[in-house]
Amino acid sequence: MELLFATANSHKLQEARDILGQGFNIITPASLGFTDEIPETAPTLEENSLMKASFLWERFRRPCFADDTGLVVDSLGGRPGVYSARYAGPEADSKKNTALLLKELNGIDERKARFVTIITLILSDKEILLFEGRVEGSIAYTPSGSGGFGYDPVFLPDGYDKSLAELSPKEKNIISHRGVAMRELSAYLHSLNSR
Ligand code: IMP
Repeated sequence: MELLFATANSHKLQEARDILGQGFNIITPASLGFTDEIPETAPTLEENSLMKASFLWERFRRPCFADDTGLVVDSLGGRPGVYSARYAGPEADSKKNTALLLKELNGIDERKARFVTIITLILSDKEILLFEGRVEGSIAYTPSGSGGFGYDPVFLPDGYDKSLAELSPKEKNIISHRGVAMRELSAYLHSLNSR
C-alpha cells in the first residue's frame, strides 16, 4: 500500500518507514513534485494534523497521513502546545524556545508536562482516523544532554532520571509521543492489510 506522508523531514520519513515496515511504501509530497509549505494554521493539534492531511487528500486524492506535535505544560495553561515550533517567535529556534520556556517557568515548581502527537490518516472521503501518542513528564530547571532535538534537553520523562536528550534514539523512540502514535497508526494499517 502506498501512503503519502505530509513531511519534508527525512528523519521523520525514515522513522515512519521503520515503524510501518514492509507492505507500505511511504512517499512524500516532494516525491510528487510538491515542495510548497503545507498550511498548519489551526488552533489545536487535532485540527492542524487534520488540516495537513486534508490538504494532501484534496490535492492528490491518495491515502495520506500527517502528524502534529506539541509540548503541553500544565502550569502554562497548556502552552506552548500547538505553537511549540514557533513559541519564541517566527524566527525561533530550539534554543530560543527552550530559553523562553524556562523563563516562563521561573519560580514555578509545578512543572508537569507532556508531549502529544496527533496523526490523521485519510484513506477516503469517509475514512478519516486520528491516532494519539503521549509521553508524560516534567520540565527540568536546566537543560541537560545533547541528543534529540527541540525541547528534549528540558523534558524529563516520568520514571527516568534523565532528560529525553540523554536517552539513546532507540530508548527515546520506545517511549516517545511520536513513536507511540506511529505504532498506533501502524497497528491499524496492518490490521487492514490482514483483513
Ligand atoms: P512537529 O509538529 O513534529 O513539527 O513538532 C512541533 C515542535 O514541537 C517542534 O518544532 C519541536 O519544537 C517540538 N517537538 C516535537 N517533537 C519533539 C521531540 O520529540 N522532542 C522535543 N521537541 C519536540
